[in-house]
Amino acid sequence: MMAQYLEIKSRYPDALLFYRMGDFYELFLDDAVAAAEALDIALTKRGKHRGEDIAMCGVPHHAAEGYLLTLIRKGFRVAVCEQLESPAEAKKRGSKSVVKRDVVRLVTPGTLSEDSLLNARSHNYLAAYAKVRDDHAFAWTDMSTGAFHVAPCPRPMLGPMLARLSPRELLATGPLAEEIREQVEEAGATLTELAPASFDSQAAEGRLNTLFGTGALDAFGQFSRADLGAMGALVDYLDITQRGQLPRLHPPQRESAGKAVQIDAATRRNLELTRSLSGGRDGSLLQAVDRTVTGAGARLLESRLTSPSTDLGLLARRHDMVAHLVGDAGLRDALRDALRRVPDIERALSRLGLRRGGPRDLAAIREGLKQAGILSDRLSALADLPDGLTDIASALTGHGQITGLLDSALVEEPPLLARDGGFVAAGYSADLDEARDLRDSGRARVAAMQADYADKAGVSALKVKHNNVLGYFIETPATHAKKMLSEPLSATFIHRQTTANAVRFTTVDLSDLETRIVNAGGQALGLELQVFDTLLDAVEADADRIADAARALAELDLAAALADLAAAEDWTRPVLEDSRAFEIEGGRHPVVEQSLRRQGASFVANDCDLSADGSEPRPIWLLTGPNMAGKSTFLRQNALIALLAQMGSFVPARAARIGIVDQIFSRVGAADDLARGRSTFMVEMVETAAILNQAGPKALVILDEIGRGTATYDGLSIAWATLEHLHDGNRCRALFATHYHELTALAETLDGLHNATVAVREWEGDVVFLHEVRAGAADRSYGVQVGRLAGLPPAVVDRARAILDALEENDRDGGGKVRTLVDDLPLFSAAPPAAPAAPASSAPGPLESRLRDIQPDLLSPREALDLIYELRAAL
Ligand code: ADP
Repeated sequence: MMAQYLEIKSRYPDALLFYRMGDFYELFLDDAVAAAEALDIALTKRGKHRGEDIAMCGVPHHAAEGYLLTLIRKGFRVAVCEQLESPAEAKKRGSKSVVKRDVVRLVTPGTLSEDSLLNARSHNYLAAYAKVRDDHAFAWTDMSTGAFHVAPCPRPMLGPMLARLSPRELLATGPLAEEIREQVEEAGATLTELAPASFDSQAAEGRLNTLFGTGALDAFGQFSRADLGAMGALVDYLDITQRGQLPRLHPPQRESAGKAVQIDAATRRNLELTRSLSGGRDGSLLQAVDRTVTGAGARLLESRLTSPSTDLGLLARRHDMVAHLVGDAGLRDALRDALRRVPDIERALSRLGLRRGGPRDLAAIREGLKQAGILSDRLSALADLPDGLTDIASALTGHGQITGLLDSALVEEPPLLARDGGFVAAGYSADLDEARDLRDSGRARVAAMQADYADKAGVSALKVKHNNVLGYFIETPATHAKKMLSEPLSATFIHRQTTANAVRFTTVDLSDLETRIVNAGGQALGLELQVFDTLLDAVEADADRIADAARALAELDLAAALADLAAAEDWTRPVLEDSRAFEIEGGRHPVVEQSLRRQGASFVANDCDLSADGSEPRPIWLLTGPNMAGKSTFLRQNALIALLAQMGSFVPARAARIGIVDQIFSRVGAADDLARGRSTFMVEMVETAAILNQAGPKALVILDEIGRGTATYDGLSIAWATLEHLHDGNRCRALFATHYHELTALAETLDGLHNATVAVREWEGDVVFLHEVRAGAADRSYGVQVGRLAGLPPAVVDRARAILDALEENDRDGGGKVRTLVDDLPLFSAAPPAAPAAPASSAPGPLESRLRDIQPDLLSPREALDLIYELRAAL
């Protein structure tokens, strides 16, 4: 057995081997040591290998999923090795034969299919990143739902892509794998390195054609070599991990560049799209807007929210659906009621496709399609539906045949596993009914025997019982032992077992009957399993249409959920157009508003106009105001409104007109990031650099307190130059919050810059926050008052006020240094400085060439910091 174990293990060196022995999965040697520690279970010894004790630990087969989940979460991969024959079969081959075993599946973070291992409301993506010459592609799939996509993804876009999809596992090969390892792991994914052959684009075509039963891939669109490589690697890896049992995938969808709004990781974090800054789902935008009632709807919402679209036509279609459902509350409620009863068809279908599903998955499909029928009847009865809803209705109709089949074949609430039997409805198969009758009438006859035998023995306490060891048996209290064991009764009652209180017997008739019952039971189960297979085939044959219905249900759930949200929260339909407008009237921050409401407070709505066209361009607002006034909230709410509009939702505002945004950037000055051991100021600068280098004319940029992380004049200068660059270089719509009041003077020289401030009122020495954004600049920062509100001791507050007065006095006397700076603008101009007249003779030194070679876009913050150390050392 150990030889077999070692042979199998040698094929899976980087996975833990779960070696099936009876009711347990056993782990041996190093695997046992690692698993015992990770699972906190007992490590034991068994026999010796090369003179050393063999370490061993095990987990019960029926509870294996929980242990698997723990191991996967801790970063292990697990090869599940099953017994492929029974011990009896092995014995037939020879008395010393070891039961045949082999790995049936390799479990990795990106290849899970069990409900207990998955989160119902989010995707579980497996991704692959490929490079062919200078072309890069990123492909991703969710094996549990069949989603399958690919997109071109130049190297600098890898970070945003990882942030958008949060894959659990990413495949790569060769030097590229090493190059991206740190970045991938920082994004929370496991990097799995494959052989270059897995990424071969020619082999990929073959694999994909086999998977989809096509002769050429043209039907699905045009793919680059890199696209093919990445998709091929996914399929190859699924083949390896599922041991040839490929899951059902949807045909690959190629996402063209620029279709999704570009949002990088830092922006996602700052805007708290799917997680709050503290890490959980609570407090995130996703949590605040999620009113979906199905797992598939929630997954669709998450993917829309993480990749808003720039496609006006598509967005109009989505908004039309939401608008229709906002307007018809009766319809909306009826739809949502039916949707609540829809199980997770996508995942049931995927498990069935992998031959890992059970009767309960079939029942999920039956119930889902039944509700689909009800929903489509409801929709089709209506006139004037928007296109989106008409299409959904048609995807939901016409599943009567498969529903009818499943309805007649399955009981109401089938068991989880087919091998337990009892899931086929009575009346579906005559043979099965007959076998079941035989089994059940046998059972009834056994029960009847009890009275006969009690009579015959003259023991009224005689009982016929059943257990797994003896099968059926007759039991009498021990007090009757003597009588039962002697003539004439002993001729009929054959002694089997004596326990402390009872004596157990069988009879020839009873064991005959038992054999008949067992045979009939076995036959019934066999017939049930046959029925299961035919049902599976029927579902398989219809899988594409069922998957379409599942997608339509998710789409409908999301539209109805967004409508419900819009109606309850009083949101409006945004006007989207191909322009550079950005006009928000009465905008609110959805998350802050909800949390204020819970505290009984209300949110103050604010306008924002960054329209870059028209006679008075004001694409940048410079926002000043004291701490706690509401600057960050205002900044973020405008980005969130754009994002919500472009995912197809209504928005929290009285009115909104938005010219399509193709990039959203958000940065917050120096939030301490000590946990990652980075200089916070460095991070801030690297991130700001990324914006200034990337933001195009259709971008929306929000910068909160940029420059805060360094000394005052440094910070002011950086903020200043950044603002100028946004204005003259990027020319994009932007909101810029700062506590450097000096910057407000820039509005005089930059014609697209507009000063705004969050109003406060001073009242008896205290500051009252009005949270109203108005034109103009803040007159002062009220820091001392805020300090007092925060509970600084009165003596400190008084002293601070005195110092402040003195400083301000001094400043006035000094004649305003900052004014001089404004007049002296060229010093800070955004225009690139004229190239310094290089001494003609000298060739660039090593330091200079090193600097020239730097490609800032390709640097991670950590690499940038390392680089600074390197440069400094080279001085
Ligand atoms: P700042 O960035 O100016 O320091 P924040 O945006 O963090 O201020 O806001 C501070 C607090 O003020 C928020 O937590 C919120 O409770 C409240 N607040 C902000 N904006 C509003 C608003 N428009 N209406 C009501 N309360 C607000």
